[in-house]
Amino acid sequence: MIICTRRLEFDSAHRVMNHESKCKMLHGHRYVVEASFTAKELDSVGRIVDFGLIREILGSWINENLDHNTILWDKDRELGENISNITGQKIYYMKCNPTAENIAKHLFEDICPVLFSSYPIECINIKVYETPNCYSQVNSKNPDIQSKLRDDE
Ligand SMILES: [Zn+2]
Repeated sequence: MIICTRRLEFDSAHRVMNHESKCKMLHGHRYVVEASFTAKELDSVGRIVDFGLIREILGSWINENLDHNTILWDKDRELGENISNITGQKIYYMKCNPTAENIAKHLFEDICPVLFSSYPIECINIKVYETPNCYSQVNSKNPDIQSKLRDDE
């Protein structure tokens, strides 16, 4: 199988509700997403897809929704509303705790299939790095979270 991967970076704040330690505090990361795609056949140029198209589509979605924003569980609306009242930003709420695992799963299951539905490519793997040493990954062989490295942030 031929796979192409585009790396995208963004800055966001989040917090992990019910975390045993300091991740329950609002804090930020330079997140890195690695989105991998495959196709039934290469295009006439010899590509799965132009790398620029992944940046244009997924990168734009990330810029509009996650970059320089705060990602919160929708159970955390009181915090989100307080932030919005002060900064005016539109908080990005998730249906679950915004861990790297859940952000990867959300991008893989909810966002990429919609964004790329009109292209002859399939997103087969999403990796989300919270730090250079810690990432979570979800892919089509095993839609549940595959691997996770955890250090202290
Ligand atoms: Zn964190």
